[in-house]
Amino acid sequence: MRTRSPHLGRSCTTSVIGMSNQHIVCPHCHGVNRVPAARLAENPKCGACKAALFDGLPVDLGSGHFRTHIERSDLPVVVDFWAPWCGPCRAMAPVFAQAAAALRGRAQLAKVNTEAEPQLASQFAIRSIPTLIVFRGGRELERMSGALDARSLNAWINRWV
Ligand SMILES: [Zn+2]
Repeated sequence: MRTRSPHLGRSCTTSVIGMSNQHIVCPHCHGVNRVPAARLAENPKCGACKAALFDGLPVDLGSGHFRTHIERSDLPVVVDFWAPWCGPCRAMAPVFAQAAAALRGRAQLAKVNTEAEPQLASQFAIRSIPTLIVFRGGRELERMSGALDARSLNAWINRWV
């Protein structure tokens, strides 16, 4: 007589995920923090500078800290390559800031001023602005050129968070 598999019933895979640590890069001092996944919703503070790790604001990135955020964060990082002289960039800025607040703790939104950081614009072959790039684990997942309205921006980012 054959016995049936005992695997019917409950699964416990989420407990494994719940025990893992997430690497979060501080938007203030750029230190890399390890935060238990279970504490991500408890407004975690940076171990080095004590500021909130999730402040819901886009972080301005220059070449000095860009790689740290892109490569060390376990959250997707959405970078807006922009410039002060670009009208569509300025028009999208409030929408981008709103998205940063809405995605607080789920994605880090960031801005690179291509006028101040031409080497980053060159490294990522930015040919028109605004250009948005989603990174995770140091890899570019997707990019989009042209200003987006709030609905389109949120829909695009939500594919990756
Ligand atoms: Zn910090």
